[in-house]
Parts: sequence; C-alpha cells; structure tokens
Amino acid sequence: MHTATSDRLYQRAVNCMPGGVNSPVRAFRNVGRTPLFIDHANGSHLYDADGNEFIDYVCSWGPDIFGHAYPPIVEAVRKACEKGLTFGACHEGEIILAEKIISHFPSIEMVRLVNSGTEAVMSAVRAARGFTGRNKIIKFEGCYHGHSDALLVKGGSGLLTNAIPDSAGIPESVTQHTLIARYNDNKSVSDLFEAYPDSIACVIVEPCAANMGVVPPQEGFLPFLREITKKYGAVLIFDEVITGFRLSDGGAQKYYGVDADLTTLGKIVGGGMPLAAYGGRREIMACISPVGAVYQAGTLSGNPVAVAAGIATLTAIEQQPEIYAELEKRSAKLETAMRKAGFQVNREGSLLTTFFTDKAVTNYETVCTSDREQYAAYFQFLLEHGIYAAPSQFEAMFVSAAHSDAEIDATCEVIERAGKL
Ligand SMILES: *Cc1c(COP(=O)(O)O)cnc(C)c1O
Repeated sequence: MHTATSDRLYQRAVNCMPGGVNSPVRAFRNVGRTPLFIDHANGSHLYDADGNEFIDYVCSWGPDIFGHAYPPIVEAVRKACEKGLTFGACHEGEIILAEKIISHFPSIEMVRLVNSGTEAVMSAVRAARGFTGRNKIIKFEGCYHGHSDALLVKGGSGLLTNAIPDSAGIPESVTQHTLIARYNDNKSVSDLFEAYPDSIACVIVEPCAANMGVVPPQEGFLPFLREITKKYGAVLIFDEVITGFRLSDGGAQKYYGVDADLTTLGKIVGGGMPLAAYGGRREIMACISPVGAVYQAGTLSGNPVAVAAGIATLTAIEQQPEIYAELEKRSAKLETAMRKAGFQVNREGSLLTTFFTDKAVTNYETVCTSDREQYAAYFQFLLEHGIYAAPSQFEAMFVSAAHSDAEIDATCEVIERAGKL
C-alpha cells in the first residue's frame, strides 16, 4: 500500500494542528502508523489521497447509514445551499425535522436542534438539573457523552484509546457532582441513589454502549434504570447519539422497549452534517429558554443546510423501513466470520466490535482485558487488505445500507484470513 501522499500531508498537518487531527480518534497513533488522508468517499467506499480504495466500516463514526454521498441527501443539501447557508431565524425545515423526530420517538414530546452530540448531551444534563433543582449526575464507566467538562470522567472512545481517565483542564469543582457507576451493574447504581437520595438530577447512559467497543445492555439493566430514576425523581437520559436511527427507526428505546425522559440524538439525524438534537418530556423541555430558566442557544442551531440533510435522511429511513432487517442480516454475516476466525464479538444490530480476550465483555473492566496489540495487528491486516475499520479497540464497526452482499462476503473472507495469523 502506497501512502506517500498521506505521509506528506501528515507532516504538514502535525505542524498546524495538535497531532495533525481535529479529533483524536482519527490519529492512528495507537496502531503505530500515520493516518490516511481521505480524498473522497462514495457508497461504502473510501478513497485516500494516494488512490487506495477501502470498504469503509467506520462510516464517519456512525452518521452514514446509507453510505457516503447518498444521492437523495446530497441533492437535498445542494438545493438548500442555493436558498442560503444560514438565516439565524426561523424556517419551516426546523419544524419538519422536529416533527419527524417526535413521530419516531414516542418519549420525545418536544425537541431542540443543536450542532453536535457534545452540545446535545451538555444541554440535556443542564435541562435535567434545571428541572429537578439537583446537582449530581450518574454516568457509567466507559460510556462517552462528548467532551463537555462534567462528562469527561471515566469516558470511552478516544479517552480510552489514549488511556486518559479524566481530562486535564477541568477543575475538580466541575466534576465533583459526577458520580460513576458500572455498566450492567444495577447495585452500583442503587448504592449511589442510597447515598444521595435527594441530590441526583439524572442518570445518563448509552442504552447500548458503543464507545468502549460495543457492550449491549444485559437483560433487566435498562428497565432497572427506568424504575430507580422514577423512584427517586431523577431524570433518565438515553444518549442515543450513536443508537438513534441505528438500532431501529426509534433508536435503542424502541429496540429494547424502554423509554427515557430525555434523549440525545446526533450522527445519523444530521445525515453527515453537523446537527444533533435533544428532547423528551414536555414538562422538562418547558424549562428551556425562552420559555423556562435553563439557558441554551446557538448561532447555527437548526442550520437550514444541515436540517435539509437530516430531513432527507429520515425520509429515506421512512421510505425504506426494510433497511434494519438488511443491516441485521449483513452484520450477522460479519459476526459469523469473526467467530469462525476465533475472535470474540459483541454485536447489536449493525454495531459490532471484535475483542481479543477469553472473558465475556460486559463492562469497562472486561473491555480492558482485550489484548490491544492483537487488535492493532488485526486492524493493520484489514487495512492492508482494503478494509477500513476503527483504528481503536474501543470503538464500533458500522455497517451501512450501501454495503453490498458481495462486499460483505469479501470482508468476511479477509476477516477469516486474519484469524489464521
Ligand atoms: C459521538 C457521541 C457523542 C458526541 O457527539 P459529537 O457530535 O462528537 O460531539 C456523544 N455521545 C455519544 C454516545 C456518542 O457516540
């Protein structure tokens, strides 16, 4: 594989951007190579600056459920651009997208559009605190909820990849109210509620964890969270930035049949543009400014171009409800190939992660038993055989509707060969 052009671009990039990247998960440092620079992408394929071609299973970390440059989305964006890139004022598209979100998520009665998952989560937590008048929040080890201060404690994704338990630059006074529980461990949650019965504003959880690698919720875990938050008057927040429109058209909450009080969405809902959302029960959302006292704003929030991409994506999902069954079938094939290769796999729908450990992977602690050097070798082998997977153990592999059966079969063959290394 020739990478001379990417290598040259990387030399320029490291001089002008920290690590040469605008988000740490892109850096490839943990797999001991310099990142590839992408020239363009189409369908299930990525093309780098040296002309290498890959079947892409990162899919921009989730948004591209229809693959790259899906024509109906591109066309909607092109049309929107011609009408103006931003208004800083109300437009009908915002309502159409909000109504679509509400129609897919029965637990969402009102919604607000923002620009990133980080912002959605930060705002949802603020709403929960404003609504309850309480300060403490519970999050789970290994779950990632964006990079806002209060949530950068025991996070997943790039933090785990770079072995950062807590970020520098965050005063203790900001994280003193962040309580940490263990994923799939009900007692770790009830212990915290017993210790602080009147001061927990919310429990925030990835209903299927995907930022420590994929770790599905065990039977009873989500219903337990639903019950205990109700009992103590705390708000249950499902961070569905990855799982929303991924596990089903109604996200993880429809998939598992458990409702949240507040939900955060991102990635797919923006169709590849910077758009995210948070919403939920009307009485909680009524706390948001200008109706209520919880302030939250955004110059580019509800941006007409991003909104057009979001509407086109949700419309495509509505027109092709069968994609979820197809994604399931294709992803199951990949899972089978990984098992044949002798690897351990966690999979939920079109989210999957290969682990290199004998232990069942059910939480942060068992995730960490996976052999990261083996993962790095696996990643390299896939890359050199034209398969672009996440460069980190602590991420998911994403399957899109653009991955053809032939491409899935070709990928399975490479995975099975990787097992013979
Ligand atoms: C990606 C992600 C975020 C952060 O979203 P950004 O758009 O990267 O800010 C938050 N929560 C979860 C579960 C995510 O996967």
